[in-house]
Amino acid sequence: MKRLKQLLLAVFCLAATSLMAQVGSGYAADYASGPRFRALLHYEPHAEEAHVEFDKQAIKFFHKLTYGEGWLMDVTTSLADYPLEKLKEYSIIISLNAMPGGREQREAFEQYMEQGGGWIGFHASAYNDKRTQWPWFNRFLGCGVFYCNNWPPQPALVECDTQDHPVTRTLPASFVAPSSEFYQWDPSPRKNPDVEVLVSISQKMYPFGLKDVVKWGDFPIVWTNKRYRMVYLNMGHGDEGFIDATQNLLFVNAFRWVVSRDPKGDPFKNK
Ligand code: ZN
Repeated sequence: MKRLKQLLLAVFCLAATSLMAQVGSGYAADYASGPRFRALLHYEPHAEEAHVEFDKQAIKFFHKLTYGEGWLMDVTTSLADYPLEKLKEYSIIISLNAMPGGREQREAFEQYMEQGGGWIGFHASAYNDKRTQWPWFNRFLGCGVFYCNNWPPQPALVECDTQDHPVTRTLPASFVAPSSEFYQWDPSPRKNPDVEVLVSISQKMYPFGLKDVVKWGDFPIVWTNKRYRMVYLNMGHGDEGFIDATQNLLFVNAFRWVVSRDPKGDPFKNK
């Protein structure tokens, strides 16, 4: 009888251990049973040619990431048909060298972002100067107006300001970003305590340019304003924006990080 009890106990322990091992390790991957989220990509087809070149490649780049319908992407050339209630259907807006048009579009975008909306913007999507007259947009970006740029577009040595952030932790400490025009801002976003700068042009690049030569200055090119669910990336000029795996990974990281912080829950954890 005693032996039988011992045997039963041993069988029970074995079964329990096996069950715990299954629960503990589970299956190594989560497969999406349907699209995890929606993204809205916005571009301006009548912008300067080099910006449209980047935009067209960006549309292909992000479209490839939808393969298998893990998520859905809508593409628009105008936000005119996107009032707040429609914008709210999207986990993220991708702005390619484009910004909301008139007052109504600006207000819808403001409310979308203030209510937890997601955004990644490239290059001229953040361009603003004294004529823009949109103070909220500067608070959102966390920086001032366009200040200066290198010309012509060229590759640049860039440095990660931190590798302790989901957007940069898989990147090398520095890398050569493909050819682009890069903007400085006045004031620099680094002066804003709400901003975390993620990538900057290396100070080793100075003097930077052949025609228009930037001689000095703080030169952040990728940052997040921690008050919003956003990442701004200054790349976006010309047809070389997607030739480099490191920079492509930066783009995917920024996109995925913004989406993962959706206030409705991290869509990558949904079954
Ligand atoms: Zn440009």
